[in-house]
Amino acid sequence: MKYISTRQQQETDIKTAILKGLADDGGLFMPEYIPQLDSEFFEDLSNLSLQEIGFRVAKEFLGESISDDNLKEIIDEVLNFEIPAVKISEDIYSLELFHGPTMAFKDVGARFMARMMSYFSGGKPMKVIAATSGDTGSAVASGFFGVQGIEVYILYPKGKVSPLQEKQLTTWGGNIKALEIDGTFDDCQALAKQILSDEELNEKFTLTSANSINIARLIPQSFYYFWAFAQLQKLGRPIVFSVPSGNFGNLTAGLFAKKMGLPIHQFIASTNSNDVVPKFLETGNYESKLSKQTISNAMDVGNPSNFERMKSLFNNDVSEFKKEIESYSFSDEETKDTMIKVKNDFGYTLDPHGAVAYLGLEKYSKKSNEDFVGVLLETAHPAKFVEVVEDVLKEEVTIPEKLEAFNKKEKRSVEFSVDFQQVKQFLMEEKQ
Ligand SMILES: *Cc1c(COP(=O)(O)O)cnc(C)c1O
Repeated sequence: MKYISTRQQQETDIKTAILKGLADDGGLFMPEYIPQLDSEFFEDLSNLSLQEIGFRVAKEFLGESISDDNLKEIIDEVLNFEIPAVKISEDIYSLELFHGPTMAFKDVGARFMARMMSYFSGGKPMKVIAATSGDTGSAVASGFFGVQGIEVYILYPKGKVSPLQEKQLTTWGGNIKALEIDGTFDDCQALAKQILSDEELNEKFTLTSANSINIARLIPQSFYYFWAFAQLQKLGRPIVFSVPSGNFGNLTAGLFAKKMGLPIHQFIASTNSNDVVPKFLETGNYESKLSKQTISNAMDVGNPSNFERMKSLFNNDVSEFKKEIESYSFSDEETKDTMIKVKNDFGYTLDPHGAVAYLGLEKYSKKSNEDFVGVLLETAHPAKFVEVVEDVLKEEVTIPEKLEAFNKKEKRSVEFSVDFQQVKQFLMEEKQ
C-alpha cells in the first residue's frame, strides 16, 4: 500500500508516512485506496475480540511492512484496556473510549503511534512535536514516556487547559518536555507546523509530528467502530455514530471504517460553538476561524487539521460530504442542560464532549424520524473535566486513582510567547 499526500506532491510507504507525520508538501498522508475487508470478517465480527479486530484492520493498512507477530504484540499492548458500549437508554449507547492510562480516547491513537514510530525508527534519535488543546499531549506523553531515543516536545496554550490536564502534560520529566505557550491552541498548532517545516531544525534533528495529522493516529481509531458493531449488531437496528469533533481525526477514522465495509447508517459530526464544519455543510464554503473557548475545550479548533483528509475522501465535493455526514453545533448552555438531563433521567454522567455528541443524536433523531441505535463516542472520563462537571451537576466527581496520581506531582514547563524564533532558539540548544 502506498501513502499519498493530500496535496499530491509526495508518494511514499507507511514507514516514511508515520515517521514524517506531515508530508513534505504540507499535506497529510492518506492510503492510496481504502482497503476492503471480506464478508467472512463481517460475518464473524461479533465473535472477534477487540484485539483481533485491531489486528485485522491494521494489517490491511500496514501490509508487509511489519510481521504479523510484531503487529499482534503491538496491538495487544496498545489495546490493554476495555472499550465497552454502555447502555444509557433503549436508543442510546455510550462507547466509552476513556479507560486507557490518561482516561481520554486519544490514548488509543497515541499508544499505537508511539509504538509504530519506535518500531520503524529502530532506536534512531528523534524529536516528536505535539501541539495540544489538552488531551493529545498527555496521551502522546504517556505513549512515548521512556521510549529510547525519542524526545517529546508538547506545546500547550497557557491557562486554556484544565488544572488536571496541565498536570498530565507537565509532570512526566525524562524524555517529555512541556512548552507553555501564551496563546491559543491554534497558535500552538501553527508553531508546531513552523517547527516541523523549518530547514535549520530539520538539518539538526529528525523531527516528526504527533498530532492527529499522523496517519498512525487514525488507523487505530477505526478499530473501535468495528468493535462497537461487534457489541451492538445483535440489536438488529441501524447504527448511527455521533462523534464529538475538533480536529476531525476521530470522524475521519470512522469514515475509513465505513469505506472498509462496515455498514454504518449515518455519521453525526457534533461540535461545540467552533462550527467551521457544520457551517461548511450548510453553505458549501469552508472558512476557518479563530477558535473559541468552550467547556468542551478539546474541541476548540478553528481550522480542523483533518478537513483536508475528509476533502480527499469525498473528492472535494460537498454533496458527497452531505451523503455521509450530518453536522451540528451546540452551545455550552445546551451542553450543560444535557449533562444534567442525562444524569437525572438515566443516572449516567457525561463529560462535556460526550454531552455534545449526545445532543447530536437527539437532534438527528428529531430531524430524521428514523429508528436507530445511537452510539455516542464518549471521548473522556468526566473526572478529566472535574471543575465543569461538578459545577454543572452540583455533585462531587470521584477522581480515579490513575488521574489522582498526576495531581500529586510537580509541574515543570518552559514558558514562551507566541514567537517562533524564541521557540526555535530553545530547540536549537537541545541535544540531538
Ligand atoms: C481530541 C478530543 C476530541 C476531538 O477529537 P478529534 O479527533 O480532534 O475530532 C473530542 N473529545 C475529547 C475529550 C478529545 O480529547
